[in-house]
Amino acid sequence: MQIFTCPFCGPRDEREFHFAAEAGKTRPDTTQQIDAETWATYLHAQRNDKGRTSEVWMHLPCSELFLMERDSTTMEVFSSQPLRKEPQ
Ligand SMILES: [Zn+2]
Repeated sequence: MQIFTCPFCGPRDEREFHFAAEAGKTRPDTTQQIDAETWATYLHAQRNDKGRTSEVWMHLPCSELFLMERDSTTMEVFSSQPLRKEPQ
């Protein structure tokens, strides 16, 4: 079992988390006509980088999305940061 840290709830069992996406993907401009292959690639294709990577994860109990930096080969977690910005 691995412990991941939700930026809102603290350290929790990895089974409470769900991978959402690789960070840094650019959503196609949906105000323009796009083909199905482009949309499918955006939704389903992953780079699957080896080593240090940034990913979007969801903590299921609080439903918050956050950015986690981890090593995809050693599973070491470097940081967890909220995606949303608090109002100023
Ligand atoms: Zn949480």
